[in-house]
Amino acid sequence: MPIIIAPLSYARALPQPNRVTMPRATYGWGYAGWDRIGPRRAHTTLDTVGGTTRRAEIVTTTNFVVQNRSSATIEQTRAVAEQLEGHLVALTQRLPLEAPSPIQVRLIDGGFIPHAAPAPGGGMLMNIPVVDGNVAKDSLLHELIHVVSGFSNVGLMEGLAVHADQAIQPHNRGVFPAFGQSVDAWTKMFIDNGHYVPLSRVFAAKAFFTDAHARPNASEFSEGDVFSWQAYIEAASFVRWLLDNVGWEEFWRVYQEASLTGPNYAVIGPLLDAYEDVWKASLSQASIPVLPARDVLPVRDPKFAHLAALMDSE
Ligand SMILES: [Zn+2]
Repeated sequence: MPIIIAPLSYARALPQPNRVTMPRATYGWGYAGWDRIGPRRAHTTLDTVGGTTRRAEIVTTTNFVVQNRSSATIEQTRAVAEQLEGHLVALTQRLPLEAPSPIQVRLIDGGFIPHAAPAPGGGMLMNIPVVDGNVAKDSLLHELIHVVSGFSNVGLMEGLAVHADQAIQPHNRGVFPAFGQSVDAWTKMFIDNGHYVPLSRVFAAKAFFTDAHARPNASEFSEGDVFSWQAYIEAASFVRWLLDNVGWEEFWRVYQEASLTGPNYAVIGPLLDAYEDVWKASLSQASIPVLPARDVLPVRDPKFAHLAALMDSE
C-alpha cells in the first residue's frame, strides 16, 4: 500500500527528479550473495527482521535489482522482478519520464506499509513487505511510480502515483485506495454524500501521513485515516483532470518546483484556485457510474467495513 515514508530531513537533499537514461542491457537473471552490496546492513536487517543471518538473494534484471531479505522464495523474487519490468514498460509508455537504473527493490518480512524511501547515493528505493510468504504485489506499481517521478509535494506525488497506477491497471481490485473503482467515481461520491474535502487540505503534506494500515488490529479508521484515504483519491482525480486539461508540461513544471516539505502553497495554490471548481463541476456533470462503497472496498477488513458504512450511509 502506498504511503511514502521519507524522512523529511533527507528528502531535501535529494535530486529531483531522477533523470537517468535507461540502459539497454541484456535481459537475464543474476544471483549473488548479499555480501556484494552491503553485508553489514543486510545482516543487521536480517537479524532484526527475520531473526536469522542467512544470506539475502539478489535477482538482477535489465532495470531492477531485487534483494530478497524475506521468507519469499527465489521464484517469487524473480516473479517480482518480472512484474516490475512489465510495469516499467507500461509506465514509460504513458508518462514522458526516464527511469533511474538500476532501481533497487527490497523484499522484507513484516506487515509494514509498502513505501519508497531515499536510497543511498540519491534517488529512491522500494521497500515491499512479505506477509506469511505473500509479497504485496499490488503495491509494486504505485511505489515504482514514486521512484520514477521523484520527490515533490506529497499531494502531487500520491495523486500522480494513484492516477497512473489506475490508468495502467484500472480493474485491479487489490490496489489501495480505489480498489478498482475510478478515482473520478469515488470523488463524485464524496461530493454527493457531503464527504468532499477541499483541495487546500488534501494538498497539505500531513493529509497523507496516517498509519491506518500499520495497525492491523485497529477495528476502524479514525477520522484522520478516513481523510487520508480520501486525500489519495481526490488528489488522483485532480491530477487526472490536470493532465487531461492543462497538460503534462505545466503539471510537470509545478511538480518539479514543489518540494516534499517546502511552502508549497505558493507553487501549487494557483492550480488549486484556478481549477478546483472547474474539475468538481466536470465530475458533477459527467455521467459516471458510482458503485456503493460496500461493493468495492475490501470489507472483510473491519477498517474498510467501517469506511464503507460511513460512505454509504448518507
Ligand atoms: Zn504513495
